[in-house]
Amino acid sequence: MRIPKWKILGVTDDFTECGCCGRRGLKRTVALMPLDADGNEDGTAEDVAYYGTSCAATALSWTQGKVTDTARAAQAERDQRDAYARRMISLYAPVEFAPVREKARVFYGRNRSLRHTGVKASEEVAKVLAEARATLADTTTGPARPSRIEDFLRYLVIFNRDQNIHRVLRVPDEEGKRQEQVIAAARSADQIRGSVLVVAALDGGAARDVAYTHDLAPEYFKQAAHV
Ligand SMILES: [Zn+2]
Repeated sequence: MRIPKWKILGVTDDFTECGCCGRRGLKRTVALMPLDADGNEDGTAEDVAYYGTSCAATALSWTQGKVTDTARAAQAERDQRDAYARRMISLYAPVEFAPVREKARVFYGRNRSLRHTGVKASEEVAKVLAEARATLADTTTGPARPSRIEDFLRYLVIFNRDQNIHRVLRVPDEEGKRQEQVIAAARSADQIRGSVLVVAALDGGAARDVAYTHDLAPEYFKQAAHV
C-alpha cells in the first residue's frame, strides 16, 4: 500500500485560505501534517499545512467525502483530548502546590489501582498537568484554550440524597441572578433531601469530577472557587 504524504489532524475555520492553491474565503480548511517516507509525522506545529477540502483530496488521492469524514473524526478526537485536559487541570491544578500528602490523597483517591505501585503522586500530577496544558496550548486547529485556575468557571452542583450528582448549573456572573440561583438550588436540594456545593472548573464536565473529588482536599478546591 502506498504511504500517504500527509496525515489529517483536524478541521478549522480559523484558517480560510488554501495553502495549496491560495484560494481565499473558504468556510474551513483541513489541517495536514507532512509524513516522511515511513509514514511518521515529519514536522512540528509550524509545518502543518491548511488545505481546502478539494486540494486535500488531490494531495491524498482520496475522495472529498473521505477527507471530510476523516477530518471530522480527527477533530472530534482532538475535542475529546481537550475535554480530558480540562478535567485534569480542574482536578489537579488546585493541589499543584499543596503539600505532598494532600496531592497524594487526591491522586490516589482518583487512581486507586496505582496505590502501592511505586507510582509517585507528585510526579504523576506534574506530568498530567504538563500534558494537559500542552494539549490546550496546541493551536493546530484553532486558538489556545483557557487552561489556568484564573480561567475556571463556577458551577453549582446539586447532589441527591445518595451523594450522586443531580444537576450541574453554571453560576451566573450577575449578583442578583446568583442569589436567585442559590435560593432555587437550596429549595431543589431540600425537596430531594440532597445538598449543594459550589465548585470551580474549566467546564461543566470537569465540574462533575471536581464535585466528586471535593472531599479529598476541600480547602484547596474551595480556594480555587474563591468560596
Ligand atoms: Zn486549494
